[in-house]
Amino acid sequence: MKIAVLAGDGIGPEIITQGVRVLTALKSDGLKIELESGLLGGCAVDSAADPFPEVTCKLVNEADAVLLGAVGGPQYDALPRSKRPEQGLLRIRKALNLFANLRPAILYPELANASTLKPEVVAGLDIMIVRELTGDIYFGEPRGIEQRDNQRVGYNTMIYSETEIRRIAHVAFQTARKRNRKLCSVDKMNVLECTQLWRDVVTETANEYPDVTLSHMLVDNAAMQLIRDPKQFDVMVTGNMFGDILSDEASMLTGSIGMLPSASLDQNNKGLFEPSHGSAPDIAGKNVANPLATILSVAMMLRYTFNQEEAALRIENSVKKVLSKNYRTRDIFGQGMTLVGTIEMGDAVLEAL
Ligand code: NAD
Repeated sequence: MKIAVLAGDGIGPEIITQGVRVLTALKSDGLKIELESGLLGGCAVDSAADPFPEVTCKLVNEADAVLLGAVGGPQYDALPRSKRPEQGLLRIRKALNLFANLRPAILYPELANASTLKPEVVAGLDIMIVRELTGDIYFGEPRGIEQRDNQRVGYNTMIYSETEIRRIAHVAFQTARKRNRKLCSVDKMNVLECTQLWRDVVTETANEYPDVTLSHMLVDNAAMQLIRDPKQFDVMVTGNMFGDILSDEASMLTGSIGMLPSASLDQNNKGLFEPSHGSAPDIAGKNVANPLATILSVAMMLRYTFNQEEAALRIENSVKKVLSKNYRTRDIFGQGMTLVGTIEMGDAVLEAL
């Protein structure tokens, strides 16, 4: 298992260090893991004047999976767009053809009070949102703002080919198979032809997965149901724009951004694994960042790229154990809990592991 490790900026190096400690522990238990570090984002701009240098491109192409911290920081905001750290993210996703974004929203019972919703609505929540990442209205042509009849008009194109829909549908059905075998596909077929095709192709693909129960939901209803009764969902699949919005909504149900991992996969389940949060420059270098989203991203890597379910569960159970022992970083801290820093949280996970 060749893993490229890109710590990035801000809290990136701190949280990645804890993720690497977990991988190193698994390696000493016998998993054949090779780690190699590289630069992405602001740190790459500083040293190579490019947020995604050629050497990093080579490293990630040769690796089986990538573990990423986060990129960005206020010191880079004034740079030309091509030099900004976030361009590194877009380019690495493109270079690796990562079309499937998997974002779980899990609320551990111990953290039920962190959500803004009533504990009985969200406690034990465990949803996976599968978002198509490289198509849809975000990339569709033609697009632009132009002058028509003496006024400015803005326009974009919502477009999906059946090949694009089918490949993300397969990822979603296979993901459902690794969970509770329930898949809800989200579209807006009552208004948009593009999403009528989405519904047709997802329905056709379902024939290959008779063991998975497929349902469909319109996106406006899905947004409402996520707040009303989120536990009705297991896996949801949707296009790039709807997925952008729904995955943020779902992650906020949990109230704790420092807890949420994510995976972006290509056709062969090679993937980039990273916490859902950013580089948090406001808390960088202070040993207060929560490393659990990164550690849980390592678990996703073992499950989705390497098919090491047992090792993935071991990590996830260790995180649960640490939470049940009431260890908390500042972002998830509450009365009666034990406040720990980034490193101490890593220590606790390793001990549980
Ligand atoms: P952010 O996610 O970095 O931070 C939002 C808030 O959450 C901050 O108060 C931060 O302290 C807190 N937070 C985030 N992660 C945390 C953790 N692990 N533990 C405890 N608290 C945590 O979002 P932002 O402030 O909007 O963006 C900061 C920078 O990150 C920007 O440069 C942005 O472009 C970049 N960014 C990068 C990614 C990525 O690398 N994938 C994603 C989003 C934002």
